[in-house]
Amino acid sequence: ELSIEEVKNEVAARFRLPGEVTLLQPYGNGHINDTFCLTCALGEGKTKRYILQRMNDDIFNSPKELMENVVNVTSFLRKKIIAAGGDPDRETLNVVPAADGGNYLEYKGDFFRMYIFIEGATCFEQVKQPEDFYNSAVSFGNFQKLLADYPADTLHETIVNFHNTVSRFRDFKKAVEEDVCERAENVREEIQFVLDREPDTHVICDALIQKKIPLRVTHNDTKLNNIMIDNETGKGICVIDLDTVMPGSALYDYGDSIRFGANTGAEDEKNLALISLDLELFDIYTKGYLEGCGGSLTKEEIELLPMGAKLMTFECGMRFLADYLKGDVYFKIHKPEHNLDRCRTQFRLVADMESKWEQMNAIVRKYSK
Ligand code: ADP
Ligand code: MG
Ligand code: MG
Repeated sequence: ELSIEEVKNEVAARFRLPGEVTLLQPYGNGHINDTFCLTCALGEGKTKRYILQRMNDDIFNSPKELMENVVNVTSFLRKKIIAAGGDPDRETLNVVPAADGGNYLEYKGDFFRMYIFIEGATCFEQVKQPEDFYNSAVSFGNFQKLLADYPADTLHETIVNFHNTVSRFRDFKKAVEEDVCERAENVREEIQFVLDREPDTHVICDALIQKKIPLRVTHNDTKLNNIMIDNETGKGICVIDLDTVMPGSALYDYGDSIRFGANTGAEDEKNLALISLDLELFDIYTKGYLEGCGGSLTKEEIELLPMGAKLMTFECGMRFLADYLKGDVYFKIHKPEHNLDRCRTQFRLVADMESKWEQMNAIVRKYSK
């Protein structure tokens, strides 16, 4: 473990900063990286703040590729924001180079990177009111709009097949066949639920392969706490946490947001009667997302939005079930059968979406005119 003094004197000091680091403290509520905020003295009593992060090396094993994605996407955004007369230090992340010119640096086996601190904005941890969910939809939609002409195929696929539902289905079948913990017998119904929906697993993958929908820059972690909300206006100004930026489909980001944000119950709720799709939240997110996208989604993508929501939920449930069958090796569990509980909520939500399919499509149509 590095001491805070070491991070300040040995790590922060190796970045291209305009002055001496006077203060460095742990910062924020991120669960993936270790985040610090540091203050730099500019002279004449002026200061400037920065974010320093020790990147999580369990989840991301190629800091070089990851940081190339981040630098390429943020420099693209920076140019657009400048052209539109915005504030490029607040409306996108900005990577601060290391003294040796690199995008990140290695210190005693850990990898660090630095960003300009976005001042005058706050990150909210939870959706407290529908307005928050709406704000996040607009921000992620706007992020998609700004990147609509980015050549997504030039980004590194830092987690291979992340939302390839077809290959996730293959992994799932393998887990059932191997049945290493002899758990398959207890979950016949859940396994059948997956098998019955095999044709669905192809819908987005095939549309991408056949170029019916475009490959796009996807964020892949579209939580409310990855948006900075302006303290004055209450509006989202910047999408942060770009570690999982990859080539993919807009339907992945939209769908995953609905999966975790429009569920009436918790992801591991045992009482399945509490699980359903909240159509009001579905409506609000869809409205915000399409507004944010501002016409950048194609007709085919818009038509597939309900399928995006269903497939992301289905895929997630299938991964929980596969992990349960493998003996809980991927997702952290906090009690026995935790992965099974999670799988059941996701499948309940899928079933509920299927029963509300007409309403979901009507909502999408309402906002796509
Ligand atoms: P994690 O992957 O661990 O969630 P994040 O990149 O989301 O890491 O950062 C964790 C927290 O640090 C954010 O939720 C936010 O509060 C804060 N943060 C990150 N980047 C900045 C920034 N450029 N300016 C201000 N705060 C930031
Ligand atoms: Mg985050
Ligand atoms: Mg993250």
